[in-house]
Amino acid sequence: MSLLGRSREELAACLVEAGEPAWRGRQLAQAIYRQRIQSVEEITTFSKELRERIQRLGWEVGLPRIAQVFTSVDGTERYLIGGRGVEGRTTDGLASSDTVETVWMPEGDDGEAGDGSDEENATNDRIEKSWQRATICVSSQVGCAVNCQFCLTAKLGLQRNLSAGEIAGQVVAVLDRQSVEIGRDRVNLVFMGMGEPFLNYDNFMAAVRLLVEEVGLSPQRMTVSTSGIVPGIQRFAGEPAEVRPKLAISLNAPNDAVRSQIMPINRKWPIEAVVDAVRVVKLRPRERITFEYVLLAGITDKPEHAREVARLVRRSGLPAKVNLIAWNPGPGIPYAMPEAAAVDEFRRSLAGEGVPVYMRRPRGRDIYAACGQLKRTVEG
Ligand code: SF4
Repeated sequence: MSLLGRSREELAACLVEAGEPAWRGRQLAQAIYRQRIQSVEEITTFSKELRERIQRLGWEVGLPRIAQVFTSVDGTERYLIGGRGVEGRTTDGLASSDTVETVWMPEGDDGEAGDGSDEENATNDRIEKSWQRATICVSSQVGCAVNCQFCLTAKLGLQRNLSAGEIAGQVVAVLDRQSVEIGRDRVNLVFMGMGEPFLNYDNFMAAVRLLVEEVGLSPQRMTVSTSGIVPGIQRFAGEPAEVRPKLAISLNAPNDAVRSQIMPINRKWPIEAVVDAVRVVKLRPRERITFEYVLLAGITDKPEHAREVARLVRRSGLPAKVNLIAWNPGPGIPYAMPEAAAVDEFRRSLAGEGVPVYMRRPRGRDIYAACGQLKRTVEG
């Protein structure tokens, strides 16, 4: 039974079961989420006898294991992370349903810019680390059921949901590997890895609460991207600001006709329904909704598309920005990368229409770590 993934109250209940007072739950949470211990023996605030008692009751830390690392020429690292199987199996054999992918991007991919948060702490006087800020891209499911036609993860289909511990555990494992100091280092999280977070809503939000309340990360440094799951957006709108990440909508097309072609989910929840749901989210001062937009050559990258997207954003009335992503190729996906000139014209056209627009730098393309490329590939 894993301790990681449990709230402080749940950890306190585990200790009460072991005959200890509930307040020790705080010590246990501290050891798991702040000190990032690997095993119960490392809990220095507990006596040896108590550690043994906890183990006898069947508890272990359950920190996911980084089973494989692929390193890009640009410094990005893609991890194959072995969590716990649904039945609690260990993952040494790396059964497909037990592994997910998580990406570490030192210096981010510029997708976080434009909402004001990047200006905070812009001066980092520490020089011992090779990065000044970093972004972790986190998975929420093994595979995905949404079936976006341009995405490699879609090829896996949905294998299973990740638990809250497996989602938060990816972050804890990467923070540990990179020796991140919470409160000093600038780390952003994007829930844009494998899976649709809003189709695993309860576990996703439970993980966010752990990351905020126990790990100590700010929800304003987290962004969740959805393909437009309207009931999920409606629930998300009801989350308190203290634990609500920023919201990104994976738009990717200028209108319903094109979007339904490349994102079948659009037939169920068309653009207008998604925008209506987003309007209910109560934004913080200076917060903006992000529209992610993948440029596919000849399909979504034409000049008239840019004008349509600008109209769509303006019509929404939302404080919004557009993140452009030049499509990253993947084997077996029948699309082409846009020409650099088309990308540039698209960006200038949006900017000319007064829409805040940013280009996501492709990170880790050579190791299939870039947007839409995550698939449990060991071939690298
Ligand atoms: S783009 Fe996201 S929502 Fe769409 S298939 Fe890929 S992982 Fe799923």
